[in-house]
Amino acid sequence: MRFAFAVLLAFTLGTPTGVAAAANGPGNQSYSVVATAATDGRLSGSETISFTNTSSAPLREIWLRLWANADGCARPHITVSSLTGGVVVSAARDCTAIKVRLSAALPPEATAELGLRFAIRLPRANTRLGTTDGASFYGNALPVLATTRDGAPLLPPPDALGDPFVASTARWTIDLTWPSRLVAATGGTATRLPAPAGQRRAMFVSSTARDLSIAIGPWRESTTVAAGTRIRLLAPNGTPARGLLTTARSSFTRMTQRYGSTGLHQFDVIVTPGLESRGMEYSGLVLTEPSKETLVHEVAHQWFSELVGSDGYREPWLDEGPTTYGQLRDLKALGDCDLRRPFTGYGTARLTWTLSQFSEHDDWYDAVYDGAACALAKLDRDWGKGAVDGILRTWVERYRGGIATTGDFVALLRERAPAGYDVDTYLRYARLTQ
Ligand SMILES: [Zn+2]
Repeated sequence: MRFAFAVLLAFTLGTPTGVAAAANGPGNQSYSVVATAATDGRLSGSETISFTNTSSAPLREIWLRLWANADGCARPHITVSSLTGGVVVSAARDCTAIKVRLSAALPPEATAELGLRFAIRLPRANTRLGTTDGASFYGNALPVLATTRDGAPLLPPPDALGDPFVASTARWTIDLTWPSRLVAATGGTATRLPAPAGQRRAMFVSSTARDLSIAIGPWRESTTVAAGTRIRLLAPNGTPARGLLTTARSSFTRMTQRYGSTGLHQFDVIVTPGLESRGMEYSGLVLTEPSKETLVHEVAHQWFSELVGSDGYREPWLDEGPTTYGQLRDLKALGDCDLRRPFTGYGTARLTWTLSQFSEHDDWYDAVYDGAACALAKLDRDWGKGAVDGILRTWVERYRGGIATTGDFVALLRERAPAGYDVDTYLRYARLTQ
């Protein structure tokens, strides 16, 4: 990767936020993007990132994640240049992370701004980062700030097995120009803007997006409304879209009743047959193969991954487990669980394993999906029908917009457990102890 950085000061003292020191940072993240997409999968433009130092000490450096480079330094899919507000001092994690020394130390509660230019070239692949059949997916492709915990950056490495991401919620505005014969989606609400001939242009706004994806393709659009949210289904010609739109509407409505409002104005469902990962979730936007099961799974992620964030590298079960429970609950498929032995077939895998531990035993990775979901389902039997819905609703209310941990989940279980219930025995059963 080439870096060509100008060291220009773009640093402002912000007004105090009044927010107490947060465990996760940086705070008040805002991304403003101006980008143009070409038909061959290239996306280029500029990005301005603003953030607040919510720690109690001056902030001298930050890390940017360039997840588009997950194939390694030798095959960079994103290049960044013309940085303002700081200077790059090193790269790490196979060029998916760059350390930026800020132009000046940022005092607590002050706000800084970084500017950069980027150019993304997609590989040919039917994945969250790839171009296939005229469609382009830019999942986790735009540069984002690395999340910090207690002042230290979380720098999970790329991992082919699952999603290593951990992201704070942020405001995103994307001024996007793309070929007029294609449809574009970001999960945000769009306002059309004047465009050059042969192009379309719109401003997409997401007020609280945790992860962000841009998807552009030759799709047919169908829409409906569920729980006050406009659902837009984008699918290639010939895909059975009507049934999937009905599934999206009904599952989104039921999950809103169970877990609370998402607050989304719009929810974009992109159907892409043959998607390598089968599905992928972003705030207000999901990719899915044309499968009811996968679609319902990705709908559930809007609560367990997007509203309640978690560290997908250190604790991959924490979004996939509740999501799979929500999926199987909605599909009335929890009856297939063997509640006595929910981890049959997953060897010695534990829900406390990191993604890298699962990578060493990748055939056990489904433990974080079905194993965790079935272990949760035991609480419905032990505590009474609807117990898990109640736990998950409180989970969403309490950690909405934040980044929760397994410790938080265990604390909630202890709080909600009926008098006399042996939570420690349950935690051993659910493989939630070390
Ligand atoms: Zn999932």
